[in-house]
Amino acid sequence: MKMHEYQAKELMARLGVPTPPGRVCATADEAAGFAASLGSPVVVKAQVHVGGRGKAGGVKLASDPSETRRIAGEMLGGTLKGLTIERVLVEEALDIREEYYLGITVDRAARRSVVMVSATGGIDIEEVAATAPERIAKGHIDPSIGLPDFQIRGLCYAAGISRDAVPGVSKLLGSLYEIYEAMDTSLVEINPAALTADGRVIAADAKMIVDDNALFRHPDLRDSMDTEQADPIEREARRLGIQYVRLDGEIGVIGNGAGLVMATLDEVRRAGGRGANFLDIGGGAKSEAVRDALRIVLMNPNVKGVLFNIFGGITRCDEVARGVLDAASLLDIRVPMVIRLAGTREEEGRALLSGSKLVSADTMQQAADIIVRRSGGGSHGLPPSPPRFL
Ligand code: GDP
Ligand code: MN
Repeated sequence: MKMHEYQAKELMARLGVPTPPGRVCATADEAAGFAASLGSPVVVKAQVHVGGRGKAGGVKLASDPSETRRIAGEMLGGTLKGLTIERVLVEEALDIREEYYLGITVDRAARRSVVMVSATGGIDIEEVAATAPERIAKGHIDPSIGLPDFQIRGLCYAAGISRDAVPGVSKLLGSLYEIYEAMDTSLVEINPAALTADGRVIAADAKMIVDDNALFRHPDLRDSMDTEQADPIEREARRLGIQYVRLDGEIGVIGNGAGLVMATLDEVRRAGGRGANFLDIGGGAKSEAVRDALRIVLMNPNVKGVLFNIFGGITRCDEVARGVLDAASLLDIRVPMVIRLAGTREEEGRALLSGSKLVSADTMQQAADIIVRRSGGGSHGLPPSPPRFL
């Protein structure tokens, strides 16, 4: 889960990272009012989930409240790299002397977390990484030791951080690692960490990605994210504890087990259709879970047909069938549905469905062919593959 800059900064400030005084605003008036209360020049920053906002015009300085109102007004409701700007962060502008890059992330190849420090931070860090990687000092973290001060200082010197900024940068990196650990993040990044004209080191930007699988440990965070501009279907799915990812096709797919769902998506593609979503109802799903899953899938208006692929192990096919029938009686379903049931209690499941409008299929290949045909698809054809048996 990506956090917005303002959310990451709020959290970091609470945990001791110096950040400029700021406020997130949804209207131009609010932005102007806050600039007036600060009584200093401000920076207005679009809060959207993209990098490189500075270069794209999403970070602008304003010298007084009326200029703040104008800039915030221009940004709000507009788009940045295709994303609607619903909020801006208004902050006291910093007088920046130098810009540093500080980041901690997972280095999968090394199976360790890695700290990165560069004295040439700011909006061109990607270019630095591509053309002058030696300017980014890197150090792996031994999880049993953590990030000790001497390692931090070593990285600062290796990166060429100005001598008078080293204590500030070191303190910041120490806090950053604490946050990285405490918040179960896969990335924390401050770019730039600004060395100001008066010698302070301040987080001028902040990026943070929390591991979705650890969200249950941070319920407050999850709640605050729900007010987010995240996809409303994905938000509803998360609320119900359903593993759902929206895709851009037209065949809704529901299965049990991530691997089976992915294989089903491949089959839909082979049959000439495209998946509208990934949805894993998990093992042992009861009929209510099946009903919720179907409701979630049908929230997507692009869905022209639904394919259930259930391999009954712990999951009982009759439970699934009951859930589908329940859902069909409660929801106004106007799209064709095909179901393939195999495994535990498949006969009972099929018997339950026999009187319904639902089409049963014996294999998932067959199910994919049927649903793609019935939903009027087939235009995304790939060369036919030889028959397979699953
Ligand atoms: P990004 O482009 O999305 O990474 O957004 P940043 O928050 O990093 O801002 C981009 C650039 O804007 C920074 O590298 C700074 O050069 C500049 N910037 C951001 N905040 C301030 C500020 O308070 N004062 C000044 N002078 N420049 C700023
Ligand atoms: Mn930045």
